[in-house]
Amino acid sequence: MKKRSKFLSRKLRETIFITRALLSSEHPVLAHVIPMRRCNLACGYCNEYDKVSQPVPLEVMKRRLDKLAELGTSIITISGGEPLMHPELDDIIRHIRSHGIIAGLISNGYYFSPERIERLNEAGLEYLQISIDNVQPDEVSKKSLRNLDKKLQHLSEYAEFHININSVLGGGIRTPEDALTIAQRAVELGFSTTVGVIHDHDGTLKPLTEKEKQIFHAVKKLGNKDHARLNWFQDSIAEGKPYEWRCRAGARYLYICEDGLVHWCSQQRGYPGIPLEKYSMEDFKREYFTEKWCASTCTLQCVHQVGILDNWRDPQVSPGEMQAEQDKKNSKGSVGEMLGAD
Ligand code: SF4
Ligand code: SF4
Repeated sequence: MKKRSKFLSRKLRETIFITRALLSSEHPVLAHVIPMRRCNLACGYCNEYDKVSQPVPLEVMKRRLDKLAELGTSIITISGGEPLMHPELDDIIRHIRSHGIIAGLISNGYYFSPERIERLNEAGLEYLQISIDNVQPDEVSKKSLRNLDKKLQHLSEYAEFHININSVLGGGIRTPEDALTIAQRAVELGFSTTVGVIHDHDGTLKPLTEKEKQIFHAVKKLGNKDHARLNWFQDSIAEGKPYEWRCRAGARYLYICEDGLVHWCSQQRGYPGIPLEKYSMEDFKREYFTEKWCASTCTLQCVHQVGILDNWRDPQVSPGEMQAEQDKKNSKGSVGEMLGAD
């Protein structure tokens, strides 16, 4: 009963946030924040963790969350590293919820005991995503169904928040059928499921093999229907073809690293690299209207989904054109005015 009422309240808030995002393009829809860069695992392909960094202090995190609230952010997802290694994660979640913002979490799943799940329920967590790479652990990844199955059973029994299990295909993964086994287990446990298509090790975009394509379509059929509808870009990526869309990273989507800097996303750190506390609507508009050179081969599902809200409006300009606009702006008007933005 409690789970059902939380589900209905979450759906209602989501509908309100989507309507708000369609009516106005002047606030962030989704921000990823990193309170903990350290990770308990060391996946061979990952460039998002270290083994030494300390947790970002709670007071610092709170100031960052306040600033995101001031910008009008609808959803904040806590990512890492492994966020469950942060000793004050529950307080971070509570602080997000105190602003009326939807609170999500991305984790590798290793720390989910019944007691830990109850604490996350109590803190007000609303979404959890776990990515599982394979059925049996290997030298590249230990995010494996065999290692995590017990934790998934705990989640199925105790969690009051929504859980999505993501599996992956492409990138030379040796046993693509694992993605289907993982998705089937997720559905059996009452979770939604998505599949990510990843690049080859050298970053090139190669079409999936026939076998991988069959698995891709089977997993999509099993999966979260809302996500499947929103992830059209994956059909092009699966065929090894570029996909044309408008990435709104730096504006509608924000990635805030452990140092509190705003980046386009986890894969384009350094752009624009401005401290969040100084991030202004002028920065927001500049990034909203700037075309991203990496867009046509991008596989980041959440940024694509945010992009859909504005794909039908506000064409972008190249970084070079934007620079020229900015140079002009220094003598008169704002970037938004120059581009004829509302
Ligand atoms: S668990 Fe996640 S953050 Fe940690 S090394 Fe693996 S992919 Fe990276
Ligand atoms: S297109 Fe993809 S990789 Fe490039 S900035 Fe946007 S989200 Fe990041």
